[in-house]
Amino acid sequence: MKQNIDRFEEHLRGKKRVLAVGHFHPDGDATGAVVAMASFLKSIGIECSIVLPSPIPSYLDFLDPRKSILFYTQERERADRLIFESDLIICLDFNSLSRTEDMEKALKESKAPKILIDHHLNPVTEEFSLIFSDPSASATCELLWRVLMNTSFTHGDICALPHEAHIALAAGILADTNNFSNSVTPDTFTMASQLLHSGIDLAELNDRLFKHFSENRLKMLGELLTRSMVFHPHINACSMILSQQTKRSFDYKEGDTEGFVNIPLSVRDVEVSALFTESDGYVKVSLRSKGGVSVNALSAQYFNGGGHERAAGGKIYLPLEEVRGYFERSLEQFLREHK
Ligand code: 5GP
Ligand code: MN
Repeated sequence: MKQNIDRFEEHLRGKKRVLAVGHFHPDGDATGAVVAMASFLKSIGIECSIVLPSPIPSYLDFLDPRKSILFYTQERERADRLIFESDLIICLDFNSLSRTEDMEKALKESKAPKILIDHHLNPVTEEFSLIFSDPSASATCELLWRVLMNTSFTHGDICALPHEAHIALAAGILADTNNFSNSVTPDTFTMASQLLHSGIDLAELNDRLFKHFSENRLKMLGELLTRSMVFHPHINACSMILSQQTKRSFDYKEGDTEGFVNIPLSVRDVEVSALFTESDGYVKVSLRSKGGVSVNALSAQYFNGGGHERAAGGKIYLPLEEVRGYFERSLEQFLREHK
Protein backbone atom coordinates (compact mmCIF):
# COMPACT_ATOMS: atom_id res chain seq x y z
CA MET A 1 0.00 0.00 0.00
CA LYS A 2 2.69 2.49 1.08
CA GLN A 3 4.55 2.08 -2.21
CA ASN A 4 1.36 2.54 -4.22
CA ILE A 5 0.45 5.64 -2.22
CA ASP A 6 3.84 7.14 -3.07
CA ARG A 7 3.16 6.38 -6.72
CA PHE A 8 -0.33 7.88 -6.43
CA GLU A 9 1.10 11.12 -5.04
CA GLU A 10 3.79 11.06 -7.71
CA HIS A 11 1.07 10.77 -10.37
CA LEU A 12 -0.75 13.80 -8.93
CA ARG A 13 2.34 16.00 -8.91
CA GLY A 14 2.11 18.83 -11.44
CA LYS A 15 -1.20 17.62 -12.90
CA LYS A 16 -3.50 20.35 -14.23
CA ARG A 17 -6.56 18.54 -15.53
CA VAL A 18 -7.59 15.30 -13.93
CA LEU A 19 -10.65 13.31 -14.96
CA ALA A 20 -12.61 10.97 -12.66
CA VAL A 21 -14.60 8.22 -14.35
CA GLY A 22 -17.06 5.58 -13.08
CA HIS A 23 -19.00 2.69 -14.66
CA PHE A 24 -22.07 2.54 -16.92
CA HIS A 25 -25.38 2.71 -14.99
CA PRO A 26 -23.61 4.46 -12.09
CA ASP A 27 -24.79 3.47 -8.62
CA GLY A 28 -24.21 5.09 -5.23
CA ASP A 29 -20.70 3.69 -4.92
CA ALA A 30 -19.50 4.75 -8.39
CA THR A 31 -21.08 8.19 -8.05
CA GLY A 32 -19.87 8.63 -4.47
CA ALA A 33 -16.34 7.65 -5.46
CA VAL A 34 -16.01 10.06 -8.40
CA VAL A 35 -17.54 12.92 -6.41
CA ALA A 36 -15.27 12.25 -3.39
CA MET A 37 -12.20 12.02 -5.61
CA ALA A 38 -13.00 15.28 -7.45
CA SER A 39 -13.76 17.02 -4.20
CA PHE A 40 -10.47 15.84 -2.63
CA LEU A 41 -8.44 16.91 -5.67
CA LYS A 42 -10.05 20.35 -5.75
CA SER A 43 -9.25 20.78 -2.06
CA ILE A 44 -5.55 20.30 -2.84
CA GLY A 45 -5.67 22.68 -5.80
CA ILE A 46 -6.02 20.21 -8.68
CA GLU A 47 -8.81 20.71 -11.19
CA CYS A 48 -10.88 17.56 -11.64
CA SER A 49 -13.85 16.93 -13.94
CA ILE A 50 -16.19 13.98 -13.78
CA VAL A 51 -17.55 12.02 -16.72
CA LEU A 52 -19.90 9.07 -16.23
CA PRO A 53 -20.89 6.81 -19.13
CA SER A 54 -24.64 7.20 -18.45
CA PRO A 55 -26.79 9.43 -16.21
CA ILE A 56 -27.11 8.93 -12.47
CA PRO A 57 -30.56 7.99 -11.14
CA SER A 58 -32.44 10.98 -9.72
CA TYR A 59 -32.23 9.70 -6.11
CA LEU A 60 -28.46 10.35 -6.35
CA ASP A 61 -28.84 13.95 -7.58
CA PHE A 62 -27.97 15.21 -4.09
CA LEU A 63 -24.39 14.04 -4.67
CA ASP A 64 -24.07 16.47 -7.58
CA PRO A 65 -25.90 19.60 -6.41
CA ARG A 66 -24.12 21.87 -8.92
CA LYS A 67 -24.88 19.47 -11.81
CA SER A 68 -21.23 19.39 -12.75
CA ILE A 69 -21.06 15.72 -13.79
CA LEU A 70 -21.01 15.13 -17.55
CA PHE A 71 -22.81 12.09 -18.95
CA TYR A 72 -21.29 10.48 -22.01
CA THR A 73 -24.62 9.46 -23.53
CA GLN A 74 -25.77 13.10 -23.38
CA GLU A 75 -22.65 15.19 -24.10
CA ARG A 76 -20.33 12.96 -26.03
CA GLU A 77 -18.29 15.67 -27.79
CA ARG A 78 -17.58 17.66 -24.63
CA ALA A 79 -16.76 14.46 -22.79
CA ASP A 80 -14.39 13.28 -25.54
CA ARG A 81 -12.60 16.64 -25.39
CA LEU A 82 -12.22 16.28 -21.61
CA ILE A 83 -10.89 12.76 -22.00
CA PHE A 84 -8.27 13.84 -24.54
CA GLU A 85 -7.27 17.01 -22.68
CA SER A 86 -6.81 15.29 -19.31
CA ASP A 87 -3.32 14.62 -18.07
CA LEU A 88 -4.49 11.93 -15.63
CA ILE A 89 -7.59 9.71 -15.57
CA ILE A 90 -8.79 8.11 -12.35
CA CYS A 91 -11.08 5.12 -12.85
CA LEU A 92 -13.36 4.25 -9.97
CA ASP A 93 -15.60 1.27 -9.18
CA PHE A 94 -14.96 -0.87 -12.27
CA ASN A 95 -12.33 -3.42 -13.20
CA SER A 96 -12.21 -3.11 -16.99
CA LEU A 97 -12.60 -0.16 -19.37
CA SER A 98 -15.29 -2.20 -21.14
CA ARG A 99 -17.55 -1.34 -18.17
CA THR A 100 -17.68 2.25 -19.49
CA GLU A 101 -19.44 1.00 -22.66
CA ASP A 102 -19.25 3.67 -25.42
CA MET A 103 -16.57 5.61 -23.53
CA GLU A 104 -14.17 2.69 -23.73
CA LYS A 105 -12.73 3.64 -27.12
CA ALA A 106 -11.87 7.23 -26.15
CA LEU A 107 -10.42 6.11 -22.81
CA LYS A 108 -8.24 3.54 -24.56
CA GLU A 109 -7.03 6.10 -27.11
CA SER A 110 -6.18 8.71 -24.47
CA LYS A 111 -2.48 8.97 -23.70
CA ALA A 112 -3.08 10.01 -20.08
CA PRO A 113 -1.94 7.59 -17.37
CA LYS A 114 -4.87 5.78 -15.76
CA ILE A 115 -5.17 4.99 -12.09
CA LEU A 116 -7.66 2.33 -11.01
CA ILE A 117 -9.29 2.30 -7.57
CA ASP A 118 -11.78 -0.57 -7.38
CA HIS A 119 -13.14 -3.51 -5.39
CA HIS A 120 -14.27 -5.89 -8.17
CA LEU A 121 -12.53 -9.20 -8.79
CA ASN A 122 -9.94 -9.62 -11.55
CA PRO A 123 -9.00 -6.12 -12.76
CA VAL A 124 -7.68 -5.91 -16.31
CA THR A 125 -4.17 -4.92 -15.22
CA GLU A 126 -2.78 -3.95 -18.64
CA GLU A 127 -5.31 -1.12 -18.98
CA PHE A 128 -3.97 0.86 -16.00
CA SER A 129 -0.68 2.46 -14.90
CA LEU A 130 -1.41 2.12 -11.18
CA ILE A 131 -3.92 -0.15 -9.51
CA PHE A 132 -5.54 -0.14 -6.09
CA SER A 133 -7.72 -3.25 -6.11
CA ASP A 134 -9.23 -4.93 -3.07
CA PRO A 135 -12.22 -7.25 -3.51
CA SER A 136 -12.52 -7.51 0.28
CA ALA A 137 -13.40 -3.80 0.51
CA SER A 138 -17.14 -3.37 0.99
CA ALA A 139 -17.21 -0.57 -1.57
CA THR A 140 -14.84 1.34 -3.80
CA CYS A 141 -15.56 4.26 -1.46
CA GLU A 142 -14.06 2.24 1.41
CA LEU A 143 -10.88 1.57 -0.57
CA LEU A 144 -10.78 5.21 -1.66
CA TRP A 145 -11.08 6.29 1.97
CA ARG A 146 -8.13 4.01 2.83
CA VAL A 147 -6.07 5.48 -0.01
CA LEU A 148 -6.87 9.08 0.87
CA MET A 149 -6.26 8.55 4.60
CA ASN A 150 -2.79 7.23 3.80
CA THR A 151 -1.72 10.23 1.72
CA SER A 152 0.45 13.06 2.99
CA PHE A 153 -2.45 15.42 2.27
CA THR A 154 -4.63 14.06 5.08
CA HIS A 155 -2.20 12.23 7.39
CA GLY A 156 -5.11 10.01 8.41
CA ASP A 157 -7.38 12.88 9.45
CA ILE A 158 -10.75 12.58 7.75
CA CYS A 159 -11.46 16.22 8.63
CA ALA A 160 -8.78 17.17 6.09
CA LEU A 161 -11.29 16.17 3.41
CA PRO A 162 -14.09 18.54 2.34
CA HIS A 163 -17.51 17.77 3.84
CA GLU A 164 -18.82 17.04 0.34
CA ALA A 165 -16.35 14.14 0.19
CA HIS A 166 -17.54 12.81 3.57
CA ILE A 167 -21.11 12.62 2.28
CA ALA A 168 -20.06 11.03 -1.01
CA LEU A 169 -17.88 8.39 0.71
CA ALA A 170 -20.66 7.57 3.14
CA ALA A 171 -23.18 7.24 0.29
CA GLY A 172 -20.84 4.74 -1.41
CA ILE A 173 -20.54 2.39 1.57
CA LEU A 174 -24.22 2.65 2.47
CA ALA A 175 -25.24 1.84 -1.10
CA ASP A 176 -22.87 -1.08 -1.68
CA THR A 177 -23.39 -2.71 1.72
CA ASN A 178 -27.15 -2.19 1.46
CA ASN A 179 -27.12 -0.17 4.65
CA PHE A 180 -24.36 -2.22 6.36
CA SER A 181 -26.08 -5.55 5.76
CA ASN A 182 -23.47 -7.22 3.53
CA SER A 183 -19.73 -7.28 2.75
CA VAL A 184 -18.87 -5.23 5.83
CA THR A 185 -15.50 -5.57 7.55
CA PRO A 186 -14.09 -3.98 10.71
CA ASP A 187 -12.58 -1.34 8.39
CA THR A 188 -16.03 -0.45 7.11
CA PHE A 189 -17.09 0.47 10.63
CA THR A 190 -13.84 2.33 11.36
CA MET A 191 -14.56 4.40 8.29
CA ALA A 192 -18.21 4.86 9.27
CA SER A 193 -17.15 5.93 12.75
CA GLN A 194 -14.74 8.52 11.36
CA LEU A 195 -17.43 9.79 9.02
CA LEU A 196 -19.84 10.16 11.92
CA HIS A 197 -17.19 12.14 13.80
CA SER A 198 -16.82 14.35 10.74
CA GLY A 199 -20.46 15.32 11.14
CA ILE A 200 -22.39 13.44 8.46
CA ASP A 201 -26.07 12.83 9.10
CA LEU A 202 -26.42 9.07 8.62
CA ALA A 203 -30.19 9.05 9.06
CA GLU A 204 -30.64 11.70 6.39
CA LEU A 205 -28.37 9.83 4.00
CA ASN A 206 -30.30 6.69 4.68
CA ASP A 207 -33.54 8.44 3.75
CA ARG A 208 -32.03 9.82 0.57
CA LEU A 209 -30.63 6.50 -0.59
CA PHE A 210 -33.38 4.12 0.42
CA LYS A 211 -36.53 6.15 0.98
CA HIS A 212 -36.70 8.58 -1.91
CA PHE A 213 -38.47 6.54 -4.55
CA SER A 214 -41.76 7.08 -6.34
CA GLU A 215 -45.11 5.50 -5.58
CA ASN A 216 -45.00 3.90 -9.04
CA ARG A 217 -41.77 2.15 -8.20
CA LEU A 218 -43.37 0.41 -5.24
CA LYS A 219 -46.37 -0.61 -7.35
CA MET A 220 -44.02 -1.99 -10.01
CA LEU A 221 -42.34 -4.08 -7.31
CA GLY A 222 -45.78 -5.38 -6.28
CA GLU A 223 -46.50 -6.32 -9.90
CA LEU A 224 -43.16 -8.12 -10.23
CA LEU A 225 -43.58 -10.07 -7.00
CA THR A 226 -47.14 -11.16 -7.75
CA ARG A 227 -47.01 -11.75 -11.50
CA SER A 228 -43.43 -12.47 -12.45
CA MET A 229 -41.58 -14.05 -9.53
CA VAL A 230 -40.99 -17.77 -10.10
CA PHE A 231 -39.31 -20.14 -7.66
CA HIS A 232 -37.09 -22.90 -9.03
CA PRO A 233 -36.90 -25.26 -6.02
CA HIS A 234 -34.63 -27.84 -7.72
CA ILE A 235 -31.86 -25.21 -7.98
CA ASN A 236 -32.79 -23.13 -4.91
CA ALA A 237 -33.33 -20.11 -7.09
CA CYS A 238 -35.84 -17.43 -7.91
CA SER A 239 -36.23 -15.35 -11.07
CA MET A 240 -38.13 -12.21 -12.00
CA ILE A 241 -38.51 -10.60 -15.40
CA LEU A 242 -39.30 -6.95 -15.97
CA SER A 243 -40.53 -6.20 -19.48
CA GLN A 244 -40.40 -2.88 -21.32
CA GLN A 245 -44.20 -2.91 -21.25
CA THR A 246 -44.33 -3.18 -17.44
CA LYS A 247 -41.63 -0.50 -17.18
CA ARG A 248 -43.76 1.81 -19.29
CA SER A 249 -46.97 1.15 -17.33
CA PHE A 250 -45.24 2.11 -14.09
CA ASP A 251 -43.39 5.12 -15.55
CA TYR A 252 -40.01 3.44 -14.94
CA LYS A 253 -37.05 5.72 -14.23
CA GLU A 254 -33.36 4.80 -14.10
CA GLY A 255 -32.56 3.30 -10.70
CA ASP A 256 -36.12 2.18 -9.96
CA THR A 257 -35.16 -1.51 -9.73
CA GLU A 258 -32.40 -0.83 -7.16
CA GLY A 259 -32.78 -3.42 -4.38
CA PHE A 260 -35.48 -5.56 -6.07
CA VAL A 261 -33.22 -8.53 -6.73
CA ASN A 262 -32.32 -8.84 -3.04
CA ILE A 263 -35.90 -9.41 -1.94
CA PRO A 264 -36.35 -13.10 -2.95
CA LEU A 265 -33.22 -13.96 -0.93
CA SER A 266 -35.37 -13.41 2.16
CA VAL A 267 -36.97 -16.79 1.41
CA ARG A 268 -35.23 -19.54 3.39
CA ASP A 269 -34.29 -21.88 0.57
CA VAL A 270 -33.54 -19.30 -2.10
CA GLU A 271 -29.78 -19.14 -2.62
CA VAL A 272 -29.69 -17.38 -6.00
CA SER A 273 -31.97 -14.57 -7.08
CA ALA A 274 -32.07 -13.19 -10.61
CA LEU A 275 -33.75 -10.13 -12.06
CA PHE A 276 -33.89 -9.74 -15.83
CA THR A 277 -34.76 -6.27 -17.09
CA GLU A 278 -35.62 -5.78 -20.73
CA SER A 279 -33.55 -2.88 -22.09
CA ASP A 280 -32.86 -1.44 -25.53
CA GLY A 281 -31.34 -4.29 -27.54
CA TYR A 282 -30.40 -6.49 -24.58
CA VAL A 283 -31.66 -7.90 -21.31
CA LYS A 284 -29.91 -6.54 -18.21
CA VAL A 285 -29.08 -9.26 -15.70
CA SER A 286 -28.83 -8.78 -11.92
CA LEU A 287 -27.76 -11.70 -9.74
CA ARG A 288 -27.52 -12.07 -5.96
CA SER A 289 -26.68 -15.05 -3.77
CA LYS A 290 -26.49 -16.18 -0.20
CA GLY A 291 -24.66 -19.31 0.90
CA GLY A 292 -21.82 -20.40 -1.33
CA VAL A 293 -22.78 -19.75 -4.95
CA SER A 294 -20.43 -17.36 -6.74
CA VAL A 295 -22.66 -15.24 -8.94
CA ASN A 296 -19.52 -13.49 -10.20
CA ALA A 297 -18.43 -16.78 -11.79
CA LEU A 298 -21.99 -17.59 -12.90
CA SER A 299 -22.26 -14.22 -14.61
CA ALA A 300 -18.85 -14.46 -16.25
CA GLN A 301 -19.69 -17.92 -17.60
CA TYR A 302 -23.27 -17.42 -18.79
CA PHE A 303 -24.30 -13.76 -18.63
CA ASN A 304 -21.44 -11.77 -20.18
CA GLY A 305 -20.68 -9.99 -16.94
CA GLY A 306 -19.17 -10.22 -13.49
CA GLY A 307 -19.07 -8.30 -10.22
CA HIS A 308 -18.66 -9.77 -6.75
CA GLU A 309 -19.09 -13.23 -5.20
CA ARG A 310 -22.60 -12.43 -3.95
CA ALA A 311 -23.67 -9.59 -6.25
CA ALA A 312 -23.07 -9.56 -9.97
CA GLY A 313 -24.57 -8.32 -13.19
CA GLY A 314 -24.38 -8.84 -16.90
CA LYS A 315 -26.23 -8.77 -20.21
CA ILE A 316 -27.88 -11.32 -22.46
CA TYR A 317 -29.25 -11.03 -25.96
CA LEU A 318 -32.29 -13.33 -25.97
CA PRO A 319 -36.03 -12.86 -26.57
CA LEU A 320 -37.67 -12.25 -23.20
CA GLU A 321 -39.66 -15.50 -23.35
CA GLU A 322 -36.44 -17.53 -23.57
CA VAL A 323 -34.72 -15.85 -20.64
CA ARG A 324 -36.17 -17.94 -17.83
CA GLY A 325 -35.35 -21.26 -19.51
CA TYR A 326 -31.82 -20.06 -20.22
CA PHE A 327 -31.39 -19.03 -16.57
CA GLU A 328 -32.60 -22.42 -15.29
CA ARG A 329 -30.35 -24.39 -17.65
CA SER A 330 -27.33 -22.17 -16.95
CA LEU A 331 -27.65 -22.41 -13.18
CA GLU A 332 -28.33 -26.17 -13.30
CA GLN A 333 -25.17 -26.70 -15.32
CA PHE A 334 -23.17 -24.28 -13.18
CA LEU A 335 -24.20 -26.07 -9.98
CA ARG A 336 -23.28 -29.45 -11.50
CA GLU A 337 -19.84 -28.11 -12.46
CA HIS A 338 -19.21 -26.43 -9.11
CA LYS A 339 -20.41 -29.16 -6.74
P1 5GP B 1 -26.37 -4.73 -10.26
O1 5GP B 1 -27.07 -6.04 -10.23
O2 5GP B 1 -26.64 -3.93 -9.02
O3 5GP B 1 -26.58 -3.97 -11.54
O4 5GP B 1 -24.82 -5.05 -10.24
C1 5GP B 1 -24.25 -5.81 -9.22
C2 5GP B 1 -22.75 -5.85 -9.39
O5 5GP B 1 -22.40 -6.42 -10.64
C3 5GP B 1 -22.08 -4.47 -9.38
O6 5GP B 1 -20.91 -4.60 -8.61
C4 5GP B 1 -21.74 -4.17 -10.80
O7 5GP B 1 -20.56 -3.44 -10.90
C5 5GP B 1 -21.59 -5.55 -11.41
N1 5GP B 1 -22.15 -5.53 -12.77
C6 5GP B 1 -23.38 -5.11 -13.14
N2 5GP B 1 -23.55 -5.22 -14.48
C7 5GP B 1 -22.38 -5.69 -14.96
C8 5GP B 1 -21.92 -6.00 -16.28
O8 5GP B 1 -22.62 -5.84 -17.29
N3 5GP B 1 -20.64 -6.47 -16.39
C9 5GP B 1 -19.84 -6.67 -15.29
N4 5GP B 1 -18.60 -7.15 -15.49
N5 5GP B 1 -20.24 -6.38 -14.05
C10 5GP B 1 -21.49 -5.90 -13.88
MN1 MN C 1 -19.00 -0.74 -5.93
